[in-house]
Amino acid sequence: MANKAKPHVLVLGGNFAGLGAAQEIRKYAGDSVDITLIDRKPYLLYVPNIPAEVFENRNPQRTMTMDILGPLDDDNVTFIQGDVKAIDVESRRVDYVPNERPGSAPTSLGYDYLVVALGNRLAFDRIEGFAEHGHTLTDTTYGEALRRYLHEDYKGGPVAIGSARFHQGDGANGLSPYPGGSIPSAEAACEGPPVEAMLACATWLSQQGMGGPEKITAFTPAAMIAEDAGEEVVNKLLEIASGMGFNYINKTQDIKRITADGIEFANGKSVEAELKIIFPDWVAHDFLRGLPISDSEGFVVTDLLMRNPKHPEVLAAGDVAAVTVPKLGAIGHQQTEIVGKQIAKDMGRISAGEADAPLQPVVYCIGDMGANKAFYIRSNSWYGGDYQILKMGHVPYLLKMQYKNLFYRSKGKMPPWGLDAAKLMVERLFVA
Ligand SMILES: Cc1cc2nc3c(=O)[nH]c(=O)nc-3n(C[C@H](O)[C@H](O)[C@H](O)COP(=O)(O)OP(=O)(O)OC[C@H]3O[C@@H](n4cnc5c(N)ncnc54)[C@H](O)[C@@H]3O)c2cc1C
Repeated sequence: MANKAKPHVLVLGGNFAGLGAAQEIRKYAGDSVDITLIDRKPYLLYVPNIPAEVFENRNPQRTMTMDILGPLDDDNVTFIQGDVKAIDVESRRVDYVPNERPGSAPTSLGYDYLVVALGNRLAFDRIEGFAEHGHTLTDTTYGEALRRYLHEDYKGGPVAIGSARFHQGDGANGLSPYPGGSIPSAEAACEGPPVEAMLACATWLSQQGMGGPEKITAFTPAAMIAEDAGEEVVNKLLEIASGMGFNYINKTQDIKRITADGIEFANGKSVEAELKIIFPDWVAHDFLRGLPISDSEGFVVTDLLMRNPKHPEVLAAGDVAAVTVPKLGAIGHQQTEIVGKQIAKDMGRISAGEADAPLQPVVYCIGDMGANKAFYIRSNSWYGGDYQILKMGHVPYLLKMQYKNLFYRSKGKMPPWGLDAAKLMVERLFVA
């Protein structure tokens, strides 16, 4: 447990952002701090490859988790398995309940620095009819249920794939990550996955001899699906998709209800579907709402150095941060390095010049399309940046699979050359 002589950094959450933040803090701050990490589970859920596992008929429960105890040990980070219940930023304490066995006594732990990396609630519980009639790909339990449904129950009827409305807070208003740019308002939390699911599902249908894109309707609450990828990229994607025969509905406003026969939308329209693959609202944890560090919807407010303006000893990374729009692991990954450097700066381990490079978010997304192909998007234009790149083919697919293998092998410590090499391979060498 924490050594009193050293500042104590408490990291909440141990998935991409939490594990990454703990590793980056150790990398830059060295032994100047004690680090404790709390998560309700001792493994990382490798969410991005769940769709590929499901459509390639592998049980994601067997392949999409990585132990975090070994990686945390390597960096001398104390792990506590527990449910975080409350944060008291004035007295710098966190309440949690150890959760390996029911009945554990509520406990609290103090900190000098707090890194909030708790992700969000994926609010399927707010979608009427989801439990009875919906499917999704957001975790391995739901992914395995969909895999079984496809292979055991699906009768070949129409498919609808899309998102519920995202309710973004006001916590990133006024931030300008690129000259003249902003953190935009999103109407869907993360639309790479629905685009991925529609392409992969079409390939799966044709492989089964059950049809193809014409059976699938993609829908979005926004004016344009996956608008974070940049207008040029989305227009290109939509042109390709409509050429293939996909159906498309935009401006649904929200999902009102899911029934056995289809989906009813808040704008009064509906779509018939046997299979409904849904991505919900990403909602802040209840205990974050109303805190001095939180925005109007409970997301943690930070500046572009990932520090809360009122409580600079509180930092955030990943989906929980108000500035993370859309909710993408790749953006969380960029933030963890900033978090590590900020704490190292306070410890006198690195200079302000080295530490204070503000976040410049980049949408970086590789989505499975089935048949060993994937699409690759690298874009910053939504935030006021100047590039938007779309590539499709076998090389991005190879990269998606290799990225996961490398992530597991390096225990989450992706070598810096990983992304650069990926960029070079996909954008210059192999894909037209
Ligand atoms: C199908 C799908 C595909 C995706 N593909 C991509 C992709 O290709 N590229 C990309 O960049 N992003 C992708 N994303 C988004 C990506 O998965 C998320 O952005 C990423 O997981 C966020 O990481 P995080 O660590 O911030 O939060 P999370 O992954 O949500 O982790 C939060 C952690 O906090 C823990 N936790 C939560 N509440 C508590 C509590 N009260 N007490 C204790 N512990 C708690 C959880 O157990 C978890 O370990 C995809 C998402 C989906 C759904």
